[in-house]
Amino acid sequence: MVEAMRRSDHDNGDARGVMLSFDVEDWNRIMGARVGQIDGPAQSAAFERQMQAIFELLDQTGWKATFFLLGTTLERHPEIAREIARRNDEIASHGYRHEPVYRMSPDAFRRDLEKSIEIIDKFCGKRPLGYRAPYFSINRDCVWAYELIAELGFVYDSSQYDSPWVHRRLKDIPTEPYRLRLPSGRDLIEMPLSVWKMRRMTIPIGGGSYWRVLPKSFLALGLRESSRNTSPSALYFHPYECDPDALHLDPDASATGFQHFLAAYWNIRFNVARRWLLPRIRQVLSHFEVTTYIQTVQRIRPPHEIVQRRLSCEGWVD
Ligand SMILES: [Zn+2]
Repeated sequence: MVEAMRRSDHDNGDARGVMLSFDVEDWNRIMGARVGQIDGPAQSAAFERQMQAIFELLDQTGWKATFFLLGTTLERHPEIAREIARRNDEIASHGYRHEPVYRMSPDAFRRDLEKSIEIIDKFCGKRPLGYRAPYFSINRDCVWAYELIAELGFVYDSSQYDSPWVHRRLKDIPTEPYRLRLPSGRDLIEMPLSVWKMRRMTIPIGGGSYWRVLPKSFLALGLRESSRNTSPSALYFHPYECDPDALHLDPDASATGFQHFLAAYWNIRFNVARRWLLPRIRQVLSHFEVTTYIQTVQRIRPPHEIVQRRLSCEGWVD
């Protein structure tokens, strides 16, 4: 892996690598359900527009990305699923229902994962090798989830993010990929989202609102620093962040006053500086070698083996 990056440095000035991913979910459905917009159209025109914007970005740049697919979204948008299957990007799983893992029992989580694998196979004809939990929600209260992920045949997980927004996140999350040894003897390659450690600060530059508010030069510097001497930076974005039009939630007449208030607040909050994001991704990543997650995983073998770690029951990565 280091060798690949040195080669890239040589070929392209100061270029380093980034792994590009999208958590493919329909924002209007997920957020709409929370504000009483339960009976919206089965197929969201906004989601289709957002995915087309992502496909255009990839076609124009020649980049490949990892799509972490949500089962319920695939079911409602079979034509998008077909397009994703046709492309040569990586297909991975984002679960079925988009429930936080710490709110599920082990049995419910297993059913969610199995359903996700089934739906991806049905609509895309492929078996996902990577998994990312909704909201990075494998936290200190549900470390058992890793055993199930490995048992169901996933090769890697990308659910760890050392961000203050992650509820009760694991402690001492490493900054680069590592091999997670599990009590059963199985293992999983863990691909944590990128953070930039700067003195005592940890800046989660893997995605999210940081990409909307931080200067582009600062983001590029952070990516270079976070990938220094190690693996490509792990990034994540969402279709809704790439919408060329304004996001809009419209609660049903039966919604409560609070739900109307929440919809109005989110319509403002989620649109702030959002239209900058797609041009930003294009500009900032143009200085990097863009890869998928599985490409990095496939490079992990002797002599480029990665460190092994264990996870304590209390949620410490040792
Ligand atoms: Zn998600």
